[in-house]
Amino acid sequence: MTLANIQQFLTKLAPLANLSKKDFQLLATPEHVWKAELEVSGKKYPAYRVQWNSARGPYKGGIRFHPGVDIDEVSSLAFWMSIKTAVADLPLGGGKGGVTCNPKDLNEKQLEELSRKFIRAFYKHLGSDKDIPAPDVYTTPQIMAWMLDEFEKLTGKKDPGMITGKPLDKGGSLVRDIATALGGVFILEEALAKMKMKEKTVAVQGFGNAGMNMAELLAERGFKVIAVSDSKGGIMDKDGLDIPKLVMVKNATSSVVNYPGKKISNEELLEMKVDILVPAALDNVIHKDNAAKVKAQLILELANGPTTPEADVILHKNGILVLPDVLANSGGVTVSCFEWQQNLAGEKWSEKDVTSKLRKKMVTAFNKIWELHQTNDEDFRTNTYVLTVKKIIEAERKRGKV
Ligand code: NAD
Repeated sequence: MTLANIQQFLTKLAPLANLSKKDFQLLATPEHVWKAELEVSGKKYPAYRVQWNSARGPYKGGIRFHPGVDIDEVSSLAFWMSIKTAVADLPLGGGKGGVTCNPKDLNEKQLEELSRKFIRAFYKHLGSDKDIPAPDVYTTPQIMAWMLDEFEKLTGKKDPGMITGKPLDKGGSLVRDIATALGGVFILEEALAKMKMKEKTVAVQGFGNAGMNMAELLAERGFKVIAVSDSKGGIMDKDGLDIPKLVMVKNATSSVVNYPGKKISNEELLEMKVDILVPAALDNVIHKDNAAKVKAQLILELANGPTTPEADVILHKNGILVLPDVLANSGGVTVSCFEWQQNLAGEKWSEKDVTSKLRKKMVTAFNKIWELHQTNDEDFRTNTYVLTVKKIIEAERKRGKV
């Protein structure tokens, strides 16, 4: 979503959330936009850190290293982080960073230099009480460790909570690797209980970090995962796929299509007769031309932006519940928040603790939206946004900005 889309998005939401002109302006405007140019081996790379909203706490959001990074992309991602942290009711605001580069063209030494230079450019605006970055596309726990080291050298103090997604021995949190999928599972289980849905056949599009972990967690919990796919295509078995075997095939051959089973296309997967559909790969895959063909009763959006606005209208009309990305995949940022909280308190929580805290956060967030959803005819995504922007505006009001 571009910055222009954010204006449109807020315009649609304004009457539903009773936004005044001032509320609108606050939500539509970043608090700070920082820019720099980072030089590595004689080449200059544009770099950005956008701090969108801090009404609810320090800015939080990843740093992306990608050739497509520009100020428009980083800004709109920073806006969405402000929404996502508020959906999960984390004591955090929203921000995002990025460097326009192709990390595949850099050797490890150059990548380290770029990472350290990012911190040198922006460190005055970062810190566990100001702005807390994390990994995003093509940035890794190792990059977070270099960034933390550079920050601590420049400031002369230990502050492991200034960045999350760190390696475990550098203050990272347990469960972070599966947090997005696990958060999605907790929300799905709560939704199924509310809908009194007993049937549990699932199709998962995408078999990377989000999709593979989701398929594994669902299979462990007795769901019947009957179809999965990746960029090369999909595979199905109406009696249920053997997920541990599928993971082995994916790891050994780099695609799920080499699993012995019926081959299907990614398009067919989306239109299959299943109870639950989990898009966990790309954006805009459910659109106006295929939305009417979706047969699932429930869609859990692990991917960011898999459903277009036109498709949303059709799905809602057909009575399909769409659990939106900002809620469904917020488990990742929630465990990032837990990492920050552990670092601030000098604690290391057990896997059991992190898991039960994550469950509580996800279930509470879902139930608040569900409650509102019972009172009107809007779709679940709209109700999620209404509740969320009201929370941000309430925090703005309390700090005297509106
Ligand atoms: P990933 O790169 O690990 O995996 C992506 C998967 O999608 C791969 O299996 C790839 O083969 C598949 N894919 C690519 N093109 C496809 C196509 N045309 N059709 C079907 N599958 C295709 O990425 P990820 O981390 O799993 O992220 C997937 C989605 O989830 C993205 O939208 C991402 O923004 C979102 N998400 C991920 C996390 C996380 O913690 N990993 C958190 C929040 C949101």
